[in-house]
Amino acid sequence: MSSYDVTIIGSGPGGYVAAIRCAQLGLKTAIIEKYDTLGGTCLNVGCIPSKALLDSSEHFHNAKHNFETHGIKLSNLEADIIQMVSRKAEVVAQTSNGIKFLMDKNNVTVYNGIGSFASKNQVQVTDKDGKTEVLDSKNIIIATGSKPNFFTGMEPDKKRIITSTEALKLQEIPKKMLVIGGGVIGLELGSVYARLGTQIEVVEFADTIIPTMDRTLGKELTKVLKKEGFKFNLEHKVQSVANNGNSVSLIALNKKGEEVKFEADYCLVAVGRKPFTQGLNLENAGIVALKNGQIEVNEHLQTSVPTIYALGDVVRGAMLAHKAEEEGVYVAEIIAGQKPHINYNLIPGVVYTWPEVAAVGKTEEELKVSGIEYKIGSFPIKALGRARASMDIQGLVKVLADKNTDEILGVHMIAPRAADLIMEAVVAMEYRASAEDIARICHPHPTYSEAIKEAALAATEARSLHI
Ligand code: FAD
Ligand code: NAD
Repeated sequence: MSSYDVTIIGSGPGGYVAAIRCAQLGLKTAIIEKYDTLGGTCLNVGCIPSKALLDSSEHFHNAKHNFETHGIKLSNLEADIIQMVSRKAEVVAQTSNGIKFLMDKNNVTVYNGIGSFASKNQVQVTDKDGKTEVLDSKNIIIATGSKPNFFTGMEPDKKRIITSTEALKLQEIPKKMLVIGGGVIGLELGSVYARLGTQIEVVEFADTIIPTMDRTLGKELTKVLKKEGFKFNLEHKVQSVANNGNSVSLIALNKKGEEVKFEADYCLVAVGRKPFTQGLNLENAGIVALKNGQIEVNEHLQTSVPTIYALGDVVRGAMLAHKAEEEGVYVAEIIAGQKPHINYNLIPGVVYTWPEVAAVGKTEEELKVSGIEYKIGSFPIKALGRARASMDIQGLVKVLADKNTDEILGVHMIAPRAADLIMEAVVAMEYRASAEDIARICHPHPTYSEAIKEAALAATEARSLHI
């Protein structure tokens, strides 16, 4: 029987990063993945393929709507979805092969098959042909991730009523697509198709889109996406969705309790994801998952069995690749006897619409609830020279700082390349900077980053310079 210091079940960003760090720390490490390719949801059907399609569709959108103003004339412009999807598949394959390379480079043994607990310190691997092998392991990490969630009446059939996985490989550009859920997936994949000409109609339960983010962002993003042709139906409760062969129909109740009917070619169900633990035989290790599949862990990410850890989407917290990666490093270092730390307050969130949405720290709503006195500084992107030069004038930066100490408590923005810009705020907040600290740092001109400085100036003493 093969034996290891650490065996990891699942090769997503949580699992494969844990494997690399374990190996770096001198631990004999194995990783088990049930799919043919490594990288989990993120690399295969999540972060990477969605960004590949977002980039392709954004090029098309710019060519169609903005090039002429820039003095570039095109004729017979056409979106080739088959080529877009095939380029995306190539990007995914290259990235996933890169993980295989990293496993080999770090001497991590990869097992292809389903991992399940035989006991507290033994994992059975069952390959495609049903052949089994049992691995002895001093420590085990559960990194089995998550799957798309849905509610009664909106069960995906994966043909017309689809999840993000199918939406990443459609072979046609739909005329109209319904999107249940105005969250991250709905708006990112909705953007892909809206840019290609699909009429996107969002049916959302809450009274705003991206309801977990600062409400200013939801308001601003609604304006941005309406210009791209999105239609929003807020406070609508979905009752049923039906596949009618070549179309779908959806019935929802609006806030007055009236029945509203929608028709489209496809319906994308994007109402969150649920932790995935199926087939793990957790009972053989004496672990009980919560009703929603989530595995309970303590502050060291240990389950009720101290040598069995869990991380990433399968445990509490944001379902984000970078959160899973941080936890992968954290668990490896805990196993090696180190004392790592994760600042969960400073895990940034991004929505890859255009312009992008990004945030870190507390929202204004959270500060109100916690009774902390705060001040706000905000600055519109359109007031930047850089924005006018590129014609990207939508969005804003909002800085929330403690009213008494000036410490930055939250930064929320919609801006070109906000996904990258937000890191200035993350670094500043990690070092507990004040709004004045950012306001006094020289920012290069002309850049989008000047909006952060200006918002910080506004938060300090209402002394923005360029508005
Ligand atoms: P996963 O990536 O889900 O990996 C789990 C792996 O475990 C899978 O490969 C699975 O096959 C394997 N597995 C499960 N059970 C077993 C078993 N019994 N035996 C063997 N293997 C098993 N996050 C971001 O931060 N940025 C983004 O831009 C982003 N975009 C996204 C876009 C989409 C469309 C989706 C769906 C998600 C996106 N996410 C994004 C979320 C991100 O993909 C997840 O948060 C991340 O993948 C979680 O990592 P994980 O390691 O916990 O699990
Ligand atoms: P989400 O939680 O972001 O959004 C779900 C939306 O569906 C919410 O607005 C919610 O109010 C709405 N909703 C819930 N039940 C509903 C119902 N019955 N009817 C109508 N609307 C309903 O979830 P998601 O967009 O499915 O994404 C899943 C996870 O994947 C998220 O946790 C996200 O963090 C992660 N993800 C991240 C990125 C990124 O980082 N850029 C991209 C994609 C996915």
